[in-house]
Amino acid sequence: MAAYDAIIIGTGQAGPSLAGRLTKAGMKVAIAERGKFGGTCVNTGCIPTKAMVASAYAARMAQRASEYGVHLGGGVRVDLREVMARKALISGESNRGVESWLKGMANCTVYEGHARLEGPRAVSVGRERLTAERVFLNVGGRAWKPEMPGIDDVPYLNNSSMMKLDTLPRHLIIVGGSYIGLEFGQMFRRFGSEVTIVEMKSRLLPREDEDVSAAIREILEAEGIAVRLNAKCIRAATQGADIGVGVDCTDGAPEIAGSHLLLATGRRPNTDDLGLEKAGVATDARGYITVDDQLRTNVPGIWALGDCNGKGAFTHTSYNDFEIVAANLLDGDSRRVSDRITAYALYIDPPLGRAGMSDDEVRKSGRKVLAGKRPMTRVGRAVEKGETQGFMKVTVDAESKQILGAAILGTGGDEVIHTILDMMYARAPYTVMQRAMHIHPTVSEFIPTMMDKLKPLQ
Ligand SMILES: Cc1cc2nc3c(=O)[nH]c(=O)nc-3n(C[C@H](O)[C@H](O)[C@H](O)COP(=O)(O)OP(=O)(O)OC[C@H]3O[C@@H](n4cnc5c(N)ncnc54)[C@H](O)[C@@H]3O)c2cc1C
Repeated sequence: MAAYDAIIIGTGQAGPSLAGRLTKAGMKVAIAERGKFGGTCVNTGCIPTKAMVASAYAARMAQRASEYGVHLGGGVRVDLREVMARKALISGESNRGVESWLKGMANCTVYEGHARLEGPRAVSVGRERLTAERVFLNVGGRAWKPEMPGIDDVPYLNNSSMMKLDTLPRHLIIVGGSYIGLEFGQMFRRFGSEVTIVEMKSRLLPREDEDVSAAIREILEAEGIAVRLNAKCIRAATQGADIGVGVDCTDGAPEIAGSHLLLATGRRPNTDDLGLEKAGVATDARGYITVDDQLRTNVPGIWALGDCNGKGAFTHTSYNDFEIVAANLLDGDSRRVSDRITAYALYIDPPLGRAGMSDDEVRKSGRKVLAGKRPMTRVGRAVEKGETQGFMKVTVDAESKQILGAAILGTGGDEVIHTILDMMYARAPYTVMQRAMHIHPTVSEFIPTMMDKLKPLQ
């Protein structure tokens, strides 16, 4: 039995940094990892996909080169093995960085294996038994497989197995028209695959505003991606060497056949084999660990951070969870989850940057709201770059003048959104930004211009 001051399960986006803070505060820490160091973001999520998105962007720009007066000799050929090798190098460096950081950390013992709670203060990793007054769960999540007829009879891919592809799919069918499905869809189309995205709902990204969904659909279809919506009864079966997917859509063929099938249908938390019941840790109906505003579970001395608590599904929310726990535990600073403002990006090209409430949420809040919108065709920098798809929009509380939400779908949208996000954190009236002098020529310079012409939200 090894005794520690703290045990951390999982080395995702919260665990390693927390180990760093706790050991610096003089605690003896154990950290357990059953898979690859760095978790989803580093190995099968953000980092590898964004490396692949960069290859896809290079391919797209090469295909469009003549529009810019640049002529390449011969056609453009993408070598998927080389794309994957570049991706593996970038992601591997992060993975090794986390591993060597933890293994070299003074006062930190790394256990490699599946960890389970054996009680409120006890954890097992294989045959090892560990105890601590504090246990931090940072176990993340994995791809969720929906129950659909025939799915177990066909080979299918998820975000992890996509990372191992070494031949280009002839026709990639993606079930799921949300963030992960759209990113993979556009990149593989740009690599040269035929791509069909199948979505059960009536539009892509159903959580976004309708104008955002519609513009994204237009962007993807313009690149030759087939989008099948309202696919109510999705089923799968082998069709010779292909995979047949029944979609039952109102328009178009009721069945499509592809060489590869990617299920991008959501995530589930890694809490089903964690021994939560032995410690009495409560979860919701979907298995997410229930936590309060400071990420404490119902069992004193046990915290849950990152995707497994259902309070966020992003690297930055998991890292922010670490900051909240460290602030409360070590700094006497009562930071809370409810202090944070919704923010995320979708890394199709052009990217979507989002902050705060959607227009739909703003409408439901019942406030008096002003709104502004500007197409990227009227943003000089986008015109100069030849990347004019999308738009920017913002909503503002008519009384307090504070910004409520924004979406920037357009070139640089993932970066530019931070100018608005930081104003929201400052709780400053939008007029501060409206009067700010921004740099020309940038996408950001048009945010004050857009704010000059606010009108009541329709
Ligand atoms: C394809 C894809 C693209 C994404 N792109 C983005 C993006 O661009 N931006 C963004 O912000 N987010 C993105 N995400 C989401 C992001 O990856 C996650 O939100 C983030 O990694 C969550 O981190 P985490 O700390 O909760 O846990 P994870 O990173 O999932 O880490 C959990 C770790 O715990 C380990 N573990 C689990 N159970 C046990 C156990 N019982 N014992 C020992 N170890 C255990 C796991 O092996 C894993 O290493 C993407 C996700 C996917 C799938």
